[in-house]
Amino acid sequence: MKINVTKSSMPSYYEYIEEIKDIWDSHWLTNMGRKHNELEKQLQDFLAIPYVSLTVNGHNALELALQALELTGEVITTPFTFASTTHAIVRNNLTPIFCDITLDDYTMDSNKIESLITDKTCAILPVHVYGSICDIEKIETIARKHNLKVIYDAAHTFGECYKGKSIVSYGDISILSFHATKVFHTIEGGAICYHDSCLKERIHQLRDFGIRDEENVDMAGTNAKMNEFCAAMGLCNLRHIKVEIEKRKRAVDRYKMHLNNVPGLHLPKTKQDVTYNYAYFPVYFDEEIFGYSRDEIHARLKEKNIFSRKYFFPLTNTFNCYKNQYSINDTPVAFDVSKKILTLPLYSDLQEEVIDQICEIILTK
Ligand SMILES: *Cc1c(COP(=O)(O)O)cnc(C)c1O
Repeated sequence: MKINVTKSSMPSYYEYIEEIKDIWDSHWLTNMGRKHNELEKQLQDFLAIPYVSLTVNGHNALELALQALELTGEVITTPFTFASTTHAIVRNNLTPIFCDITLDDYTMDSNKIESLITDKTCAILPVHVYGSICDIEKIETIARKHNLKVIYDAAHTFGECYKGKSIVSYGDISILSFHATKVFHTIEGGAICYHDSCLKERIHQLRDFGIRDEENVDMAGTNAKMNEFCAAMGLCNLRHIKVEIEKRKRAVDRYKMHLNNVPGLHLPKTKQDVTYNYAYFPVYFDEEIFGYSRDEIHARLKEKNIFSRKYFFPLTNTFNCYKNQYSINDTPVAFDVSKKILTLPLYSDLQEEVIDQICEIILTK
């Protein structure tokens, strides 16, 4: 039996077929159709945020968010993330400035942000990595003091709340990814979440080639529209999201039962006042205490047909395409974590016996 790091959740075949039936009647396949608009509305309710603009994927959501805010100059961000975060900055002709992360939960180290601010800084782009919540209060204070925009890459935090508020309601904009591997998905998809009504028209034009109406094109936009079949998958998945997250919690609790308090293994610190979505299960291996390195455990699991991931390795500031532009000495904690962290298989119907087996393999001396 092969165990992958993740497995896409799906509604029943019949539920999806039922949902897409009226697409055949309408012959309306994309361009802000009924499914699309219904999903936007349902997500606005579910995520408790005034505006949700759907996009073709999370990466486009991020690119459009940066473009919509008309930013120029430097953006303070983290290298401990998926390629998308850094690429979105670079593809907007902005300069990423890399801030280190904390060892506690791998989010941006808010104590190190201010020293990176220059007269060119326009925004902070932190990532709620693995579903851990950034130091929101401190980041907000810094942003207000220096008049910076805050865009959260919330790709890992669908449905999470902090202090009773939806996580996507923090910052100027939060973006979500609805990729097939995420907690909530639309096969491919994403969303831009925001409060400011002035952004809505811009974002909607930008995701549709900058077209205002039949005769006016105002901006060099892109094509980032979500199609009806993806929106239909989202409508189905949203019906099951609560159960989905509960099942993930059960799997995470099982892992914790085995791996909490093992000398040399570290799990991300959880914060009070957060309702988590249990998106990932990262484990940090301190070889000197635990006895085995991350890479050894990764290989050992692979031998047994269990596929964990060295997520996030390599750091984005060490990618070939950014060679010689950045120094890992600027982000030593992130560099250390990237060499020692492993995300273990996690999905809603991952069986407890399999989790027991995975932990047994990891803990065998
Ligand atoms: C998945 C992901 C994205 C990009 O999302 P896509 O929908 O795959 O384009 C961006 N940032 C992070 C942190 C992600 O994990």
